[in-house]
Amino acid sequence: MNGAATNITKIKDSIPGSVRVVAVSKTKPPVEIMQVYNTGHRSFGENRVQELLSKKDQLPSDIEWHLIGHLQTNKVKYIVPFISMIESADSAKLLRVINTESINSGRVTDCLLQVHIADEATKFGFLPDELTGWLSEGEYLSMKGINFCGVMGMATFTENTDQVRHEFRTLKLFFNTLKEMFFADKEAFREISMGMSGDYKIAMEEGSTIVRIGSIIFGNKTKN
Ligand SMILES: *Cc1c(COP(=O)(O)O)cnc(C)c1O
Repeated sequence: MNGAATNITKIKDSIPGSVRVVAVSKTKPPVEIMQVYNTGHRSFGENRVQELLSKKDQLPSDIEWHLIGHLQTNKVKYIVPFISMIESADSAKLLRVINTESINSGRVTDCLLQVHIADEATKFGFLPDELTGWLSEGEYLSMKGINFCGVMGMATFTENTDQVRHEFRTLKLFFNTLKEMFFADKEAFREISMGMSGDYKIAMEEGSTIVRIGSIIFGNKTKN
């Protein structure tokens, strides 16, 4: 096996089967994605719509694509017909468009609510109070084109592992609150997507169900 195939196999062997690995393939060419695909892996994550669309056409149709980067409302219609999960639903406005486009496509789109947990101004996501406020208004209950599956968050990019752990713990507790307040009877609302190459072990200790891993699978030559 080549590097990427060996890497993903080792990672998956080292973690519980209940945690889903999304192989983050942004900036990587289809030939490298195929190396991972050929190990039997099917979940891949991309952060740019244009790049996702061009790769998708060159790769097998049974790949489960996760959109993990900020999504502009005018691009929603291009991905809704095939996307497996939108992990980066970060505003009410975006959710409304995903809902409408999904209904137009005759689909129900699996979405995670991206929550801003990092101590960085640049990361997207709902602020916790903003999200509970919006959910309290009840609009989400009428969004028949969306399957609310849980939350996604990114920790601060820092060497301070205590801070990272604290942020993941905060997200897990916030997930519990949302589950209890709004999604108690919704079986699908069970995912906590947190953890990347540098912090996925901490994230799993704090309860993640999905980890999004790029550079330690593919290498980080052209990471963005
Ligand atoms: C790039 C990216 C990842 C993967 O990061 P690595 O450090 O390469 O594992 C995970 N999540 C999001 C949202 C990303 O943009």
